[in-house]
Amino acid sequence: MNQFAPREVPLRRLEIAVRGVVQGVGFRPFVYQVARANGLSGWVRNDADAVRIEVQGAQDALDAFCEAIRCGHPPQARVESVEVRQIGVEDGVVGVFEIRTSDERALARPVIPADLATCPACLEEIQSPGQRRWGYPFTNCTNCGPRWSIIRRLPYDRPRTTMAGFAMCPACQAEYDNPADRRFHAQPIACPTCGPALELLDCRGRRLAGGAEALGRAAEAVLAGQILAVKGLGGFQLVVDATNAEAVQRLRGRKRRPHKPFAVMFGSLSAVEAVCELSDEEARQLCSVQSPILLVRRRAGQRPEVVEAVAPGNPYLGAMLPYTPLHHLLMAAVGRPIICTSGNLSEEPMAIDTEEAQRRLGSIADLVLTHNRPIQRPVDDSVARVGPSGLQVLRRARGFAPLPIILHRTAARAGRGVREQVILALGGHLKNAVALGLGAQIIMSPHVGDLDNVLSMEVHRRTVEDLVSFFEVTPELLACDLHPDYASTRHAEQLAAAWDVPLIRVQHHHAHVAACMAEHGLDGPVLGLSWDGTGFGTDGTVWGGEMLVCHRAEVRRIAHLRTFPLPGGDRAVRQPRRSALGVLFEAFGDRAADYLAGQFAPGEMAGLLSALKCRLYCPRTSSMGRLFDAVAALCGLPAVISFEGQAAMALEFAADPGELACYDI
Ligand code: ZN
Ligand code: ZN
Repeated sequence: MNQFAPREVPLRRLEIAVRGVVQGVGFRPFVYQVARANGLSGWVRNDADAVRIEVQGAQDALDAFCEAIRCGHPPQARVESVEVRQIGVEDGVVGVFEIRTSDERALARPVIPADLATCPACLEEIQSPGQRRWGYPFTNCTNCGPRWSIIRRLPYDRPRTTMAGFAMCPACQAEYDNPADRRFHAQPIACPTCGPALELLDCRGRRLAGGAEALGRAAEAVLAGQILAVKGLGGFQLVVDATNAEAVQRLRGRKRRPHKPFAVMFGSLSAVEAVCELSDEEARQLCSVQSPILLVRRRAGQRPEVVEAVAPGNPYLGAMLPYTPLHHLLMAAVGRPIICTSGNLSEEPMAIDTEEAQRRLGSIADLVLTHNRPIQRPVDDSVARVGPSGLQVLRRARGFAPLPIILHRTAARAGRGVREQVILALGGHLKNAVALGLGAQIIMSPHVGDLDNVLSMEVHRRTVEDLVSFFEVTPELLACDLHPDYASTRHAEQLAAAWDVPLIRVQHHHAHVAACMAEHGLDGPVLGLSWDGTGFGTDGTVWGGEMLVCHRAEVRRIAHLRTFPLPGGDRAVRQPRRSALGVLFEAFGDRAADYLAGQFAPGEMAGLLSALKCRLYCPRTSSMGRLFDAVAALCGLPAVISFEGQAAMALEFAADPGELACYDI
């Protein structure tokens, strides 16, 4: 026998279903390339519930293929499960692998990807003279770029995004059609020839410049201390030189935001490290595809490059890296850290179109750097920090929304054929977000904000309409907060009546614990410590320091903080001294006045004391937030504040062992 004769290699064929965030993230081209690299034949296709693959070849090659699917997939894909089944070998041309088109009806409910930060390959292109996308602020590929902020309808194809108005040039079309290209089926694909373009406007809307000149003049204005409004990925932002104290103060004055910390964008990781201490995990999160604003600790004892007024009295800084080519180019031109904050006045929502920005930001910004790619819906920056158990998202928006939270128990039931229910939950009054339950998937809207004014209420309404129409569902059940006067509660009541569906009112702190259980896949019983500002309790008092035992949908309040009266109710939120007075009155009665004499005008104190005695407008509360406020006021920290949580933050920083003296005991 000739030992050099090729041995017959036995062929096998596998059917593979990959579930998770695997559509619209370059997964099919990735599968195609791995199959080709391993000499495998077969096909890949998007189905409603999964990416389906059939693949045929030698055992070694199949093993390598499966390993790559599990571990080497594109970074923004989230593989939740890979099911592999051996099936019969098929005849066919060896080594031919194809990407099959998907059945549109089958694609009705795939997982929608979130917006992704610029990938290293695109960054290199925009920085390389001679490349056709050199200096182009709207460069993207299947691994990066806008998604949720531009999708109008499903399935996710260019004509159903805000890129519909931009016809691809032949060069972009060729990349779009080439399965071996990084831009194969990249829906927002664009270049200087065919894509969106920049424009610089003055505060009255007059055009000053376009393209590279617009960017250059915008950067000069920032360096000169001016305030620039920039149309970012999911809305307008306000930008100012973070090393210029006077400019920062001017922004605070015009934005009517006296104290609340601003986020700072740095040009590179090393620029962040020059100002802040970073752990490896923090560095990794800053560079992730979500690219959140990350709360990191400022370095002590160095001449601060970023001025104190950015985050007064705060040992932390909200740091982020550029996440679109536009931000990268702007940072390169400015060459120093910038404040990059939502384009709005005080607590109003962010502006998303140029006309609106002109109207609402005209009195804040000196110049407006805008472009002609429409933003479909507002998506603010996400805010997170790294805790002992990893990333903790404090404001869930860009990079995360609308990625679902998967309820595994419900998913298992659905697998057994139990029909999935559509539930719409409208959220609370402060830091509002809306959630849509589609069976096992919970889709969360980006952070909407506080529903204190007409504009933010309008965004809340639009967010609800958007979620319902985007996923083409009719809710069968509505959920809202137990508080009868929340704007979101009243909205829920109107919708429930209009749609003729049941409305479930959920106690605020039970909702907090239940959300935590859903996020971590727990059924209970669990002991939930819900420490919060305020929420409407089932006994008519204001809750906020609760110990709840929860089991599935059941809840039992087993303990709470001792209650105390809150003079003036909600007015106490902005006046920690009122919480202090309430706590002291509970402990000492009339003598409370002796301890707080300096904090109130005499007439004011007398009025509040008589209200406390008559129990007039003095709801009792078990709120942990108000207890923190009381202690902060008693420690001599601000007696009146400009944003919720300010006093508790000041207390945390004052108690911080790493902090240098900031108040006298
Ligand atoms: Zn890219
Ligand atoms: Zn083009």
